[in-house]
Amino acid sequence: MFVAVRRTAAPLIALAIVGLPAAAGAQTVLTSTVSEPQVAQESRDEDGSPSHSIGVPDRGRLRDSVQLEPTPHLFIRESRRAAQHGTAELVGLIQRAAARVSLAHPGPRLVVGDLSRERGGRLHPHRSHRSGRDADLGFYLLDEDGEPAEPDRFVNLRRNGCGRIGETRYCFDPARNWDLLAALVSDPTTVVQYILVAPDIRRRALEEGERRSVDPALLERVRVATEPHRGSRSHRSHFHVRIYCPVDDRPECVDEPPYHDWYVGDPAPPTPGIRRMRARQRRAYRRQAARQRARAARRARQRRARARQRRERIRARREARRGSD
Ligand SMILES: [Zn+2]
Repeated sequence: MFVAVRRTAAPLIALAIVGLPAAAGAQTVLTSTVSEPQVAQESRDEDGSPSHSIGVPDRGRLRDSVQLEPTPHLFIRESRRAAQHGTAELVGLIQRAAARVSLAHPGPRLVVGDLSRERGGRLHPHRSHRSGRDADLGFYLLDEDGEPAEPDRFVNLRRNGCGRIGETRYCFDPARNWDLLAALVSDPTTVVQYILVAPDIRRRALEEGERRSVDPALLERVRVATEPHRGSRSHRSHFHVRIYCPVDDRPECVDEPPYHDWYVGDPAPPTPGIRRMRARQRRAYRRQAARQRARAARRARQRRARARQRRERIRARREARRGSD
């Protein structure tokens, strides 16, 4: 039923009341620059998908997850095959977005990093990625001749938009990365919450959207979804994509701010368990901050002590010289 409502401008509230799965309505006013792919959309009905995201992404779990498999449009970083599980919504989102980019630009595929483990939970080295709602998607890159390239891993980009693996230089591809962002935020079934990416790299993608004079609503959605957040700055090799809780996974699945105006339904009040968890997190942050302050104070004391010793040594030398005169 999700296909039927695509690009109708039904008010969100009505959609929330009829309980549309995965909030299809939120996306319907957007027209993407990329044309409709002939991808098999994963089947959904009013009962929603079988997968369940539980809790918050920093401390959650995943039940009946779906594994992302390689397709003609995407491949998986070899070392991270165990971390390719997500909700059906997240996995479908990645497959559809990669297919849409491929349709406009056949050739090199999207490189996918970590999602979550089969049952979620802690996934080293990430803080989140625990509940099947986070995915790391490598940037689309160009080679030295400006041709689309497909390095087998993420490439860290410097301020000039380029980076290296060994001797080979790669640069950010504004065209395909813009199309990827556009496809992610205008997906017909899955609702993206935000995309973490370093601000200077984000600017390159947004400039491409502006240059193409895309639908202003789409440009605005990409702009808001990629607004800098805690953690954006370090994302210089990939986009970190976070989706909102699928409607049918709530209230076990818990969203956290920001609640953008495309959020469907009302944010559930946090359960006592979540409130306890947040209180624990706040205490942990406070303890960490106190430890950092203590360390800084210790270092300052040590610096002062060393300076005092230096002064004393100099004085002692002077007195020794004076004594020998
Ligand atoms: Zn990530």
